[in-house]
Amino acid sequence: MLSYEDARLTVIEVTAGLRRIPTREKLKLENSLGRILAEEIVADRDYPPFDRSTRDGFAVRAADCREAGAKLRVVGEIRAGGKFDGALSVGECVQIMTGAAVPRDANAVVMIEHTRSGALQNEVTMERAAGPGMNIVPRGSESRVGDVLLRAKTRIGYAEIAVAGQVGRAELDVYCKPRVAILSTGDEVVAVDATPGPFEIRNSNGVSLGAQAELAGAEAVLLGNAPDRGDELRKMIERGLEEDALVLSGGVSMGKYDLVEEVLRGLGAEFSFDAVAIRPGRPAVFGICRDTPVFGLPGNPVSTMVTFELLAVPAIDILAGGDARPLPLLKAKLATNVEQKASLTHFLPALVDWANGDAMVTELAWQGSGDTATLARGNCFLVVHQSKLKLAAGESVDVLPRRGLL
Ligand code: AMP
Ligand code: MG
Repeated sequence: MLSYEDARLTVIEVTAGLRRIPTREKLKLENSLGRILAEEIVADRDYPPFDRSTRDGFAVRAADCREAGAKLRVVGEIRAGGKFDGALSVGECVQIMTGAAVPRDANAVVMIEHTRSGALQNEVTMERAAGPGMNIVPRGSESRVGDVLLRAKTRIGYAEIAVAGQVGRAELDVYCKPRVAILSTGDEVVAVDATPGPFEIRNSNGVSLGAQAELAGAEAVLLGNAPDRGDELRKMIERGLEEDALVLSGGVSMGKYDLVEEVLRGLGAEFSFDAVAIRPGRPAVFGICRDTPVFGLPGNPVSTMVTFELLAVPAIDILAGGDARPLPLLKAKLATNVEQKASLTHFLPALVDWANGDAMVTELAWQGSGDTATLARGNCFLVVHQSKLKLAAGESVDVLPRRGLL
């Protein structure tokens, strides 16, 4: 059986192999968060565009301030956005504000905290020596005009938005979000706003998968629920295959009414795997059907969540036009001993906190993969790897944060 790492690599390879180039759209900069850039962002001028003071203080000739105690004459003032055209003679300085352009003849800035007003008017005493370049960021030292500041395929976070804003890009060329169809299956499943019969359950997977898809950067297309009947399931799967990817929940186990694989096969699906060495989530299947990546995730809600995070997110990354992001595992100190018997990698509901400074993770007692309430009391999964099923309190262990929460 594939390890989850190998299953992820398979998903990445197969999805990338489709060589889909997403369509592009122009978006206002402020609406581009989380998208993938479809173009390069280039510096429109040198940055900083002038020799910039990083302090409020006095722009001086360093040669005048080789030692502490120099008394200089203040001959002007420069605010941020302003300029000083005059020349500085020996023994002269200019008061300057953070972000202002350093005058031509000055080559250091002494911060105001290191100065004191002199006895004479317009006189200031430097209480520290100044070396050339002190508190100045030279023009072009961050980037030169024409430099590529953001490469195509970059994921747009807030720093990337700042960079684009800085160079005047009010609109960006980005890739459209991939549309991910979400279809739950099961005769026992009714809509969230329906009243279930005594042995029926509401479709929580539809909405949780929708949320996970959006957190991953996709547009979720919620198709509702299909019954465990071949003909109807087939019709709804065919509808789902019109989107960029299809995620199904339920119907992939060994039960008599688990029909998802069979129906997909009938539609020409080629499966890359139909089990992964994880718990929860072992029966997860992945394949390509009509050129579309399809995930058949087990129906128990926590299995659905874990397998989506492990397997579907990297595919969404690629369909979004970017590279697959690594699984964002953290290290934390384990609060109590944990032992698992089954030779699988386990993802256990857990709570990580930083109350004592370091990350400490506590496993939560739960009722198995239907227990969403326990999961919701935590904020992460404790990962117990197949290679080491017995963990001792105090050990450093892997933690998979619940996306969007930590
Ligand atoms: P399955 O993988 O189809 O065997 O489903 C396993 C269990 O997961 C079912 O017995 C339900 O309790 C639960 N389940 C299946 N589908 C859903 C759903 N859409 N929403 C919430 N729970 C579900
Ligand atoms: Mg089912």
